[in-house]
Amino acid sequence: MASNNHIRRAVFPGSFDPITLGHVDIIERALPLFDEIIIAIGVNAAKNYMWDLEVRIAKIEAAFKGQSKIKVTSYQGLTADFCKKEKAQFILRGLRNTTDFNYEQTIAQANEKVNGVDSVFLICSPEYSHISSSIVRDIARNDGDFSSLVP
Ligand code: ADP
Repeated sequence: MASNNHIRRAVFPGSFDPITLGHVDIIERALPLFDEIIIAIGVNAAKNYMWDLEVRIAKIEAAFKGQSKIKVTSYQGLTADFCKKEKAQFILRGLRNTTDFNYEQTIAQANEKVNGVDSVFLICSPEYSHISSSIVRDIARNDGDFSSLVP
């Protein structure tokens, strides 16, 4: 069996408040690239979430039931530190548009230079580029039906 160091492991970090079809698209398309993908919910004490951490984890687990390459967990602190702890060489992120790109660029450059963790970006499928967790939360807050946006 390959030693742990040879496992291609990616962390897919996010708030997942809640997980959307956009996230699922990125994760499913990234599966052939990695041996393991850790979906990691970043916990920021200063942030108010709509869904509790346990609920967000349960929704993600339900979306990937039976998929042995996927782990779901939470973490605090810097994503790059979490990657080191988990022996993950890569951070996986999805890009919807240039706003996402501009936000991600400097973070990815810093993570590579400072921590040696490389980022891998997938451009989202066009049918999902309008989907965001914040849109889902807006709809939920107004008692709307957001079922077509989430798994
Ligand atoms: P964050 O709080 O870091 O923005 P999110 O949970 O919103 O976390 O998103 C996590 C990752 O999923 C980010 O890389 C984000 O760009 C990506 N993502 C979110 N929505 C979509 C989508 N509709 N299509 C593709 N990628 C997406």
